[in-house]
Amino acid sequence: MNKRIYLDHAATTPLDETVFSIMTPYLTGIFGNADSPHAEGRKAMSAIDDARDTIAALLHAKKNEIYFTSGGTESDNFAIIGAARAKKAQGKTQVILSAIEHHAALFAGEILEKEGFQVDYLPVNEGGRVEMNALKALLSNDTALVGIMAANNETGVMQPIRECAKLAHEYGAVFFTDAVQFAPYARIDVQELGVDLLSISSHKFYGPKGCGALYIKNGVKMEKLVGGGEQERGMRGGTLNVAAIVGMAAAYKNACESMEENNAKIAKLSQIFLQEIASLQGVERNGESENALPAILNLRFDGVENTSLLYNMDLKGVSMAAGSACASASVKPSHVLTAMGLSEEKAKQSVRISFGKHNQEEDIKIAAAFLMETVQKLRGM
Ligand code: PLP
Repeated sequence: MNKRIYLDHAATTPLDETVFSIMTPYLTGIFGNADSPHAEGRKAMSAIDDARDTIAALLHAKKNEIYFTSGGTESDNFAIIGAARAKKAQGKTQVILSAIEHHAALFAGEILEKEGFQVDYLPVNEGGRVEMNALKALLSNDTALVGIMAANNETGVMQPIRECAKLAHEYGAVFFTDAVQFAPYARIDVQELGVDLLSISSHKFYGPKGCGALYIKNGVKMEKLVGGGEQERGMRGGTLNVAAIVGMAAAYKNACESMEENNAKIAKLSQIFLQEIASLQGVERNGESENALPAILNLRFDGVENTSLLYNMDLKGVSMAAGSACASASVKPSHVLTAMGLSEEKAKQSVRISFGKHNQEEDIKIAAAFLMETVQKLRGM
């Protein structure tokens, strides 16, 4: 088959053509450094200002609460390390992260542990959700920060963020949510969610790669991570990536404007895929479906190693994943699935299929047929 069928939108999405054309002038003609005081710089800063306005309005935040970064990884690192270090001054030295966080958040936890913080990992139930009782049991007056992602990148399971943030605040902790996977599919109102810090990443909603944002609620104390220049009100050094920031704002606006339409389309594709493979025995969905994003299906195929399945599907022209892209080179079982209670063997039989707005029903049917064929072939070997 010549045409490829891309079913890995949780890893990344293609840049929208409209977004690309909005970005292009900022790669060539409008090239100024946004922090330069001359006309070229002012032009670039004006575009940054507009992008910040757009993103702030879509998140229901204030303009000065949005900080541009190089992506979800940097936003997560900055949120967790920056807020925890600032809280240490108040004598708070415990950090709670859910056990299913993205590696960008878990890495930040490792750094803090080396600095003397006690980092506790909040367990999840077998459906992949955190539970209030478990959070309550870990919280203490020493808790500096609680980090729980809004939706998981491997299972798509959404977390009870509002409730968790409220509970964390009762103990004087800062609450951070990684909304990188959540943002393309759910409207975000930071006031209503009650979060202090929230990260998004442009390439998950058809924007350019290497660009993200961190919402920092006014009044939340932070230590900066990337320093040198005084950009981003002194909180994040580095010449601003004007084209990417402009592109991210345009892409996020598009995502929010067509959210219901895209979600309905994607949910239908996911349903079709499940119907098409319904006759296959020994298939289980990982993560509770009631609270999952429409785009992600995490499926386990009895007796089939995910690496062989993915390799064979790739040969047939279908791109799928095992867990997160950042960990795809490793043969380790997914930390998300093992935290949900799956054995290492079962975790290694699981694949992530993530749909996108450009997928067509007939492609989904072809991919499902290939998958049935491949699973049966691998089981027969
Ligand atoms: N957080 C989550 C939940 C993700 O899924 C990802 C990327 O896969 C990241 C953070 C990292 O984002 P970025 O690729 O922009 O660094």
